[in-house]
Amino acid sequence: MPGMASGRGRQVIIVECPVNRPSARRYALDLILKERLGLKWKWRPSTRRAYRISVAGVPGRSLRLPDRLLSVSDQDWLQPASLPRTPLARWQVPPVDQAWAGTDGAVPVIYGKHSPVGSDDGLKVSLPLDVPGSVFFMCSRYEEWVLPDRDEHGRFPSHASVAGRCGFLTEPIVDHYIELLWAAMHRLWPHLRRRETSFRTMLSHDVDRPYLEPLKSLKDVATDVHAALRGENRPATREEAWLAGREIVDPHFALRRRTLLTENGSAFRWLLDLAARHGLRSAFYFLGGVTDPQRDASYAVGHPALRGLMVLLRREGHEIGLHPSYASGTDITAIRREFRALRRACAFERIWQAKWGARMHYLRWIPKETARTLDKAGLDYDATLTYADHIGFRCGTCHEFPGFDHVTGKPMRLRLRPLIAMDVSVTSRIYMNLGFGEAAFTALRDVKEACRAVNGNFTLLWHDNRLATEEERHLLAEVVSA
Ligand SMILES: [Zn+2]
Repeated sequence: MPGMASGRGRQVIIVECPVNRPSARRYALDLILKERLGLKWKWRPSTRRAYRISVAGVPGRSLRLPDRLLSVSDQDWLQPASLPRTPLARWQVPPVDQAWAGTDGAVPVIYGKHSPVGSDDGLKVSLPLDVPGSVFFMCSRYEEWVLPDRDEHGRFPSHASVAGRCGFLTEPIVDHYIELLWAAMHRLWPHLRRRETSFRTMLSHDVDRPYLEPLKSLKDVATDVHAALRGENRPATREEAWLAGREIVDPHFALRRRTLLTENGSAFRWLLDLAARHGLRSAFYFLGGVTDPQRDASYAVGHPALRGLMVLLRREGHEIGLHPSYASGTDITAIRREFRALRRACAFERIWQAKWGARMHYLRWIPKETARTLDKAGLDYDATLTYADHIGFRCGTCHEFPGFDHVTGKPMRLRLRPLIAMDVSVTSRIYMNLGFGEAAFTALRDVKEACRAVNGNFTLLWHDNRLATEEERHLLAEVVSA
């Protein structure tokens, strides 16, 4: 019968490996074998510093992987000495598996053999990659716990990461490692069946400026303009000055014209039509409060116009989430307060959701703190993790996975839904500076293709206030269609 996994019942994978760091090892092996491949596995303790993988009841065949990261000494754990040595060695992948390699047919070896060579005699296969250790490294954001690098918003910059320094920010390396592992397992045990996933585009929007500010006095407008002209990112050209000025002045005119959030021509109506044309279920993240008056919402999440927008979003099948304010990523009281305000606004409109997700304002993910704060506040998932300054795979994957808490040494309840690209990362002068034309489209299409190749999720963030011009709308529409 098609789809049936042979008459032998569900096979059990046996993993022999050391017993130190049991919770980190179980997290990595669960993530790879159980969650991603849908396989049942059992741990068999071993004193040998390696992973030996076999299938119960099938003697004589095995797969070996080196064990590097998870066997480092306690003294070096979460210390610079345990970080991968760069530049990384590269493993020339056998031709049969080259779909998962870079253009030169090689993959970077985060942890693994120093002179990476694999072997395969048909019964015993050896890969030179420490797949569990490398997956743990990327998914638990290990390096962000070790390195002190931060940008002006306290964020970990892409150029400090191993992926940034070694040129694989736009490769889903975790997904490629898992595919390479599966390819070897499938050759050894052709009757094994894996869990299949399918590619999805997940469009999402941070509701930063829905243009609801009460009309300010002309004096307030003048103050805003003055601040923008004097600020650190002050416009360099006439055109930029004009755009910056419009950003400040537009909301006031919009309100004067009584533009409704969702009327024809508005950013939201346009986004809803785009999603409907492509059959997408989008997520909209709302700011629930203020921790930094300069940078946070100019709207109250409980405002009737915002609630009206939420009702419309839900009616059209979209998801509502929390956009925690600028300084809330280290402040459990603030996140709880904002989450409550959002749910109260939703409850008022009888909007109920089984799961609630979050994405930090400014993608302000403070290493060591934000994941733990969101987890404690009871959020179900986070969708922040890409780099603000560069698109790509901060966690090495475009599939959702559970977070890991390095303080307790255990997995979290909070799941991480990696973000792959933010509009501003591509277009802004201070980040990739690719504008709105062909170069920006190509960069976004390429990461989308990388997600498609591993049947993952292309999660794209487009801000509600980045749809004012024809070229902004055109770029988003082209990327969604690609
Ligand atoms: Zn925001």
